[in-house]
Amino acid sequence: MYTDQSQKRQRGVGLFVTRLFARPALMAVILNLMMVPIVHSKPEVIAHRGASGYLPEHTLEAATLAFAHGADYVEQDLVLSRDLVPVVLHDIHLDTVTNVASLFPDRRREDGRYYAFDFTLAELKTLTVHERRQLDGTPVFKDRYQGEAGFKIATFEEQLELIAQLNRQFDKQVGYYPEIKSPAWHRAQGADISKIVLGVLRQHELDDAAKKIYVQCFDFTETQRLRTELNAKVKLIQLIGENSWGESSTDYTMLQTTEGLQQIAKVADGIGPWIPQVIDPGSGKPTDLVARAHDVGLAVHAYTFRVDSLPDGVDAERLMLVLFDEIQIDGLFTDFTDVVRRFVRP
Ligand code: CA
Repeated sequence: MYTDQSQKRQRGVGLFVTRLFARPALMAVILNLMMVPIVHSKPEVIAHRGASGYLPEHTLEAATLAFAHGADYVEQDLVLSRDLVPVVLHDIHLDTVTNVASLFPDRRREDGRYYAFDFTLAELKTLTVHERRQLDGTPVFKDRYQGEAGFKIATFEEQLELIAQLNRQFDKQVGYYPEIKSPAWHRAQGADISKIVLGVLRQHELDDAAKKIYVQCFDFTETQRLRTELNAKVKLIQLIGENSWGESSTDYTMLQTTEGLQQIAKVADGIGPWIPQVIDPGSGKPTDLVARAHDVGLAVHAYTFRVDSLPDGVDAERLMLVLFDEIQIDGLFTDFTDVVRRFVRP
């Protein structure tokens, strides 16, 4: 475990420094070397929706750029098409990232929204993907990709193929980081997204704790189900949101207690909190969540580092310094893999 290694490292360094005091010249050289910032661990750089800071999220182009930027993992959020194919989309809705409203104006539901699940894969493939917009059409991030080139929705298997082929050709080992989106909602539509995604992973021999892949989910009941009922072997990450988001019926306040973390540790390998849960936005001070998660053996992969949406009064370097060196998270989801990669040596 990371925490054990860290403790051993600290003990080792203590002994080393004690011996060094007997040899002043050597100590001066070593102290100089120690002025270089110490990187305590090798945190994972996770490309959040691909290189979404630069290209429309979750497209093959965004995944390719994230690969080129040196991501350790490329994330794929997954929802199902009507014909039960896992496609890479952040939302169950299509309207904020595609031209669905102009191509299929009469296919909206009563709530006015367009749902990926109401379209076959062939229909989804006719849509083009653009930079994320609000429902009123204004861009969520005003300085990101502004064009209308013909980006397409990718299937999960297309992204698996893309990364596997790039890994082969560039002799890399970039991993996958799929998220099972809204499992309870999918079940209400009559579809078992977890079973279908696990089926794809098993076809590709990726349901394996030794492979470079994590599966993440916000719904704790589903994370437990993946490990127990569905017998998943792959590494699992329990995402932690806020109860006010309505992301699932999970009680995220409870999950952050030590008892909650112990429950997570029974079925998952780590947690995915959002940054304000590990650095208190009021005081700017680290919370104890990361240390308590490490204490029960959970890795911590925090989300989401965005250079165009930083907390007030904090620059990118300072935020990364606190996350990686002070509170020692084990991974960071980022829209800007290139920026984090420059900070975290591969
Ligand atoms: Ca996600």
